[in-house]
Amino acid sequence: MLRSTFSRTFPQVLRFSACHFASIPAPNVQPDVHYNKIFINNEWHDAVSKKTFPTINPATEEIICHVAEGEQADVEKAVKAARDAFALGSPWRRMDASQRGHLLNKLADCIERDTAYLAELETLDNGKPYAISYCVDVPMVVKCLRYYAGWADKWEGKTIPVDGDYFSYTRHEPIGVCGQIIPWNFPLIMQAWKLGPALATGNTVVMKVAEQTPLTALYVASLIKEVGFPAGVVNIIPGMGPTAGAAIASHMDVNKIAFTGSTEVGHLIQRASSTSNLKKVTLELGGKSPNIILADANMEVAVEQAHMGLFFNQGQCCCAGSRTFVQEGIYDEFVERSAERAKRRTVGDPFDLSTEQGPQVDEEQFKKILGFIGSGKREGAKLLCGGSPAADRGFFIQPTVFGDVQDEMTIAREEIFGPVMQILKFRSLEEVIERANSSKYGLAAAVFTQNIDKANYIAHGLRAGTVWINCYNVFAVQSPFGGYKTSGIGRECGEYALENYTEVKSVILKVPQKNS
Ligand code: NAD
Ligand code: MG
Repeated sequence: MLRSTFSRTFPQVLRFSACHFASIPAPNVQPDVHYNKIFINNEWHDAVSKKTFPTINPATEEIICHVAEGEQADVEKAVKAARDAFALGSPWRRMDASQRGHLLNKLADCIERDTAYLAELETLDNGKPYAISYCVDVPMVVKCLRYYAGWADKWEGKTIPVDGDYFSYTRHEPIGVCGQIIPWNFPLIMQAWKLGPALATGNTVVMKVAEQTPLTALYVASLIKEVGFPAGVVNIIPGMGPTAGAAIASHMDVNKIAFTGSTEVGHLIQRASSTSNLKKVTLELGGKSPNIILADANMEVAVEQAHMGLFFNQGQCCCAGSRTFVQEGIYDEFVERSAERAKRRTVGDPFDLSTEQGPQVDEEQFKKILGFIGSGKREGAKLLCGGSPAADRGFFIQPTVFGDVQDEMTIAREEIFGPVMQILKFRSLEEVIERANSSKYGLAAAVFTQNIDKANYIAHGLRAGTVWINCYNVFAVQSPFGGYKTSGIGRECGEYALENYTEVKSVILKVPQKNS
C-alpha cells in the first residue's frame, strides 16, 4: 500500500542557472538548460508575455518549478527561427545527410550518458515509476534516435523508366518547418518519435511540449545544442494547447504538423490545417483497444499480459487493452485471476523500485478516471477490486477491475486513460471480431491463443493499426505504429514515418536518343 510520506523530498526552488535539481544526480557535463525559458535558435528566451505556469509533481501535488508559458508571439519567433534554419544554403540545408545522422547519433549518446538524470526528471514531472523511466523510456528514446540516424543517408528516391526520350528520378526532400505537438504520457519517447524522422529527413522543428510535463524536453533541448545542431533546427516551446498549440496548428508558415493526444484535439488540428495553409497532418490519437483471450490461451501468460496491457504506465497508454474480451469457458477463472493480480499491484512512491504504479499525471485526469469508475458502477458493471483513490495526497488511483461489462456501457466505449480494466464475455470468433471492430477507434488490438490459424484469422479481421499475438505493448522502433478510423492518420516509427516528413519531387530531363 501507499506510504503517506515518501522517502525522497524534492526542493521547490530550482537553481535555473545551475540547471539541476539538488536531489538529482547531476549529469557528467554541466548542461546549459533553463527550465523557466523557451528554447529558440539554440538560445533560452523568456516568454514574450513573461508569463509562467507551474509544473507539478503528481505524487505529492507540490510545484516543482515554474516554466515559461509560450503563446502565439513565441510561436512566431520559433517559426521564424525554423524557417531561417531551413533557408536554401543554410548550414542545415547544406549539411551532408550522413552528418545529420551523425548528429542524431551524438544526441542519442548524450541522452544515454544522462539516463539517470533524465529518468529522474521524467518520474518527478510525470509520476511514472523510476524503474520504468530508467529501463524503458530512456532506452527507447536512445534506440529511436539511433534508428533514424541510420536512415538519414539511406532514404533514397527512384529512377523511373518513363516513356519517350526522357529520364525521370525522384528526390525525397524535407517538407520544411514541422510543427510537433506532444502529450504527457511518454514525454521523452513522444519527443524522440517526432524528432527522429523529422531531423533524419532534414526538416526543422517547432515543438510544443505538454503543459503537464515540460521538463525533460527542455533538458533534451540543451543536448541538441550541445551536440551541434545548427541554431533554429529544433525549437521547443512549453505552453498551453489552445494558445501555443493552436498557433502552430494554424500557422501559415508551418508546412507540416504532427500531433499526438486526444481525438478531440486531433479534430481541431485537422480543421486548423484545412482553414489555414493545408499543412500536412499526421495524428496519433485515442484508442479503446480490444484484447481477445481465446479459451485455449495459456492462462498464466494471458492474465499477466492483459494486466500489463491495461495497467502499464498507470493505464495512460493510447494503446491500452481496455476492452478485455474473454471466451466463455475460461471467463470465470480469468476474471478471478485478473482481479487477484490487480489487487497485488503495488501502488505508491514512483521512486521506490518495487512500485509498479505511480500517480495519474494530474488532477484533471484523476477526476476524469474516477468519473468513469462511477459510470461503470451506475451502469451495472461488476466492480471486482479498486474503484477509489489510493492515497490522501497525490493523484493515485487503486487498480480497478470491472467484470460483466457490456458493449454499450460508457466504460466499454470511451477511452478512460487510467488503471481501470473492463472484462467482457464472448462466444465465437466471428462475434468477437465484430464486437471488437464496432468502436470509433482502431489503434491496437491483441489476441491470445495457442492456435496459429485462429490467431491469424483474428489478426487479419481486426481494424487496428497494430495487432499483437500472445504479447502486448511490444514496441519496436523498426515497426510502424498508428491508427485506423479516429485513432489517427499516418504512421510513426519504422520506414513508414519517413514518408510523413518528405515531399517527393520528380525530376524529368530530356535525354535525346540520337546524337544530333
Ligand atoms: P490533449 O489532446 O488536450 O493534449 C495533448 C497535447 O495537445 C498537449 O500538448 C496539449 O497542450 C495540446 N493541445 C490541447 N489543445 C490543443 C489545441 N486546441 N490546439 C493544439 N494543441 C492542443 O490531451 P489531454 O487533455 O492532456 O488529455 C485528454 C485525453 O486525451 C486523455 O484522457 C486521453 O484520453 C487522451 N490522450 C491521448 C494520448 C495519446 O497518446 N494518444 C496522450 C494524452 C492524452
Ligand atoms: Mg487537454
